[in-house]
Parts: sequence; structure tokens; C-alpha cells
Amino acid sequence: MSEDEEREEIIKWFENLTERAQEVQSETLREIIELNLGAEYLKKWIGASASVFDFDDSDVEACYSSCVPLATHADFEPYIKRISDGDASPILTHKPIPSLSLSSGTTEGRAKCLPFTCHSAQSSVQVFRVAAAYRSRVFPIRSGGKILEFIYGRKPTKTKGGLPVTTATTHYFTSKEFKEKQKTTKAFTCSPDEVINATDHKQATYCHLLFGLLYSNQVEFLSSTFSFALVQAFKAFEQSWQELCTDIRDGTLSPRITSPELRRAVVGSFTLDPELARSIEERCNGLDDWFGVIPKLWPNAKYVYSIMTGAMQPYVKKLRHYSGDLPLVSAEYGASECWIGVNIEPTEPPERVTFVVVPNLAYFEFIPLFRRTSFAVGVDDFDEGRPVGMGGVQVGGEYEVVVTTFTGLYRYRLGDVVQVVGFHNGSPKLSFVGRRKLILTLTIDKNTEKDLQLAVERGSRFLSRAELVDFTSHADLSASPGHYVVYWELCGHEEEEEEWLLKECCRVMDEAFADEGYKASRRDNGIGPLELCIVEEGTFRKILEHFISKGGAMSQFKMPRCTSDPVLLSILNGSTMRSFLSTAYR
Ligand code: AMP
Repeated sequence: MSEDEEREEIIKWFENLTERAQEVQSETLREIIELNLGAEYLKKWIGASASVFDFDDSDVEACYSSCVPLATHADFEPYIKRISDGDASPILTHKPIPSLSLSSGTTEGRAKCLPFTCHSAQSSVQVFRVAAAYRSRVFPIRSGGKILEFIYGRKPTKTKGGLPVTTATTHYFTSKEFKEKQKTTKAFTCSPDEVINATDHKQATYCHLLFGLLYSNQVEFLSSTFSFALVQAFKAFEQSWQELCTDIRDGTLSPRITSPELRRAVVGSFTLDPELARSIEERCNGLDDWFGVIPKLWPNAKYVYSIMTGAMQPYVKKLRHYSGDLPLVSAEYGASECWIGVNIEPTEPPERVTFVVVPNLAYFEFIPLFRRTSFAVGVDDFDEGRPVGMGGVQVGGEYEVVVTTFTGLYRYRLGDVVQVVGFHNGSPKLSFVGRRKLILTLTIDKNTEKDLQLAVERGSRFLSRAELVDFTSHADLSASPGHYVVYWELCGHEEEEEEWLLKECCRVMDEAFADEGYKASRRDNGIGPLELCIVEEGTFRKILEHFISKGGAMSQFKMPRCTSDPVLLSILNGSTMRSFLSTAYR
């Protein structure tokens, strides 16, 4: 079969799957129940009898959602703890769970432990193959080409019960499925495993860049799991490009690579190439503020591929700067819990990307969310409707995603808010809205990560000489009334940015919080003026280092957008150079 035929086969398969989306959903739910009937968690809610199979598929769905309650990670925690401690009895699934994965924890404040099985890695391959097929229709890549992937493993640890535990991405990078994906998509990562699994992410980034440059003419696209890692890699490149050129010219390896495993894997794996080094140097010297560095150094790259939605949106501007005229392709929607959707319209810019739900990966339900127009008592700004299946969603509606997975999570609330923007055949097409969890709340005010992101976007539009690198916030209750503190790291000509202008940014940001509770509290001084703190360059890098030092993985890192962690606050407050109080609501 030719490659084009193979690609069309995959697309045909996916088209057929989504045409039968609802039927596939019923079959998927039945399969999950069949596999795990009698496992402790399910037994508690639906008993262990096989009578559930006597129903036809739509009744199975109705019976399941009326018997099994909606649940959060906290409900599964005691079960996962027992698995982690070595209890191999059928707790969540019939088959024992061989390993656990850690979610990034940067959205929830602490990492969640989740079951990881061979199904998890296999579904990654399925998602990547489908996405790669649609991408290669519009951005064909050369078979056998290379991918410059900024991916990072995390050393697995063992639980008390002896189960390996690491991030879902590491499980995948070290799985046979990862190798299989490279073979089936016929695109191979530039770096050897030792680089992907290096414990020091800075050294790994240097080596990823080195291998990427050595294979520069063969690189077909660049990627990372989340776009934060790509931006970090190119910031590191700005600092280390001359050293990289020296290594390529002389066939040496920078002394900054101190890890013996890494040195062994890299030294001797390439021969000196003075001509390549000279050409890289020449191209770098010809760039203006690193604009378009990616197409300049990787002339055959067709696109840059990474998750650019949700918490990654603030990095898109910088990524566009590095990517010049290369298309940015936003990657799939998934979580440590399971995969949810694929981007089958890769030419859409990150701001408009949608994800088609993959109906055979899990059983999906959607809790309708209705935004309240005035402030009212409640956990957040949404009223909830009754959960619906895939067929019951309305275009334009907002929903919280609920999943029932092959790894033993039943009616598990993912905490993500999505909007249904249409259908692809019978499968909903989702746009990612944000995490549902409130991050900034002092009294009756309720603001999510997305609300903060929008306010920061509005406020930072006024910057004229400097560029916003990153931001976070804190709900400060140390004095009465409490107030929001928003920390900005700027770069460029930060010191030239004038006082009046930053004050203006602060005022606009304060006014941009649209939540009625916040506005009312600001008006009657129940919440004090918003404070904007400008921190030194490199402060957010320290936050990343702190997260990594606690065992986090670069590949899954998402900057905490609100913190009350004393270590982070001491980093932020200790690095604050200038601060401004909002003059809004006077
Ligand atoms: P983790 O908790 O580390 O497994 O990360 C999973 C979370 O990352 C999801 O629940 C989403 O909130 C977010 N996420 C994953 N994929 C995307 C995407 N394509 N767009 C936006 N957010 C995403």
C-alpha cells in the first residue's frame, strides 16, 4: 500500500468511526462494563450481575448513568491509594493496573495519581496516527524524515506497592508504542532516548537543539507536548547558539553537559561539521531579534506542532515570533486520565482550533453549564444541567467533560470546560474554554484561569517597549480588604516602560475582570485595588526550576496562574522591582 493510500485508509476509518459515533459510544461503554464487571468500584454501584447485558445499548447507557454517580478525583483517591500500595485485587478494573501516572498538578495545585495501562499508550498511538493522517493531507512530510521534538521524560519512582509511577507522557515516551508510532507515521525523533529521559531538562534541551541542528535539513516539523516547552527551548537557544555552533564545528560537547549518561550518548554520535556550523552562525547573525529563527535554521520544516490552546495561549505570540511564516498547528486534546479529541483541521490557527471527540477511546458525558448573568451564591459562575451523552449536546453550549475510561475511572469529572462548536459526522467538535476551577476568589468574586488570562491580555496590550513573558496571581488576604496581586515578568526594554503606562495597564486589568461579584466588591471596597507587581527577568524560570526540583516534568508543565504556595510567593515577592495599585473604581 502506498503512503497516500495508507493515510486515506486511516482517514476513512476515522470518518466511519465518527459517522457511527453514538453507536460506538454505546459499544464502548458496554465494553468497559463487560471488562470490569465485578470490580469493587463498579460492584458498589451496579452490582456484579451480568443482567446489565440483557439491555440494548441505549438502556445500558441510561442504566449506567442512573446507577453510577458523578465523581471527582477525590472519590477515586482511596481506591488508587490501595492500588498504589500493592493491592492487586480487582478494585477499579479486572486486570491489575501495572503503573500509575501523575498529572502535571500545576492546574490543580498538586499532582493527581491516575491509573495507566497498555490501553493508555495504545490510545495515544491511535490519536497520533489519526491526527498525523489529517495533517499530512495538507502538510505532506517526507517519509523517513525527522521531528525535532522537545520532549522530556521524568525518572519513574516506585510506589509502596512497587508500581512504577511517572507522568503519562514519560510512560508513553518509554513505551513500545512510542517507537511504533514513529514507524507507522514514518517520522523519527532527532534525539536518542538518553536525551528524552535525561533528568536535567536544561541539559536535555541543549542536546535536543544539538541533534535538531545536526539533522537540520531532514527535520520535517518541530514539536513539544505543550508550547511552553518550545518557547523555553528557543529562549535557551538565544543564549547557547554560539556554544552549539562550536560543538558542531569542533565535534565537541559543551561542558554544560555534565551528566555522564548524556555525554556517553552524545559524544561520538556525530562528526564535526565546520560547514554546517558556519552556515548556522551566518543565518543566526542575519536574524532580527530571532524573528523566524525556526524556518531559517530548519528550511524543510513544514509546521510547528504543539498544544497551543487553553493555558498555552499566552505563549502563542512568542512562538509565532520564532516561527515566522511557518504554520502553527495546535495539537490534540487529552489528559492523564484519557484522550478526548483530535484536531482534524490543522490549517486552522491556534485561536480557532477545535477537537473532534474520538468515540471509541472512552465513554463521554457532558454536564451542561449555564453562565449566570448576575452574581449569586454557588461554587462558581455556572448552573449545571443534567449530564447528557454525545448525542444530547447542543451546538453553542458549554459543558464540563465527564469520562468513563478503560483504566477504571467511572463518570469522572475532568474539570475542563469546553464549548460544542459543531459536529464532525456524529461526533461533537469541541473548543477548549478552560479549567472550571476558580483560581481568584476572595469574597463573592469568582474568576477562573481564563478570566485572569483575558484580563492580563487586555492590560498588557498597552505595553509599548516591553513584552510580557509570563504571569501569575495571588488572592491576598493578609490585609483587609483583600485584593488581587498580579505578577508580570517583562522582557525587552522593560526598564524603559514608563510608570504612567504601567499604572494604566494595572487600571485596565482591574477593570477587565468582568465577574459581577468582583465588580460589585470593588465598587463598595469589599475588595481593594488590584496590585500589579513587575518582577525581575528570570523569576518565572525560578518557578519552573522549583516545580522540576519537586519532581515535576518539563513536558507537562503548566505555569500555575494563581498561587498561595509560600515558596512561590517568596520567589515572586523577593523579585518584585516595581508595583502599582489600580486607580479603577474610585
Ligand atoms: P494533565 O493534568 O497534566 O494530564 O493535563 C491535562 C490537562 O491539560 C487537561 O485536563 C486540560 O486542562 C489541559 N489540556 C490538554 N490538552 C489540551 C489542549 N489541546 N488544549 C487545552 N488544554 C489542554
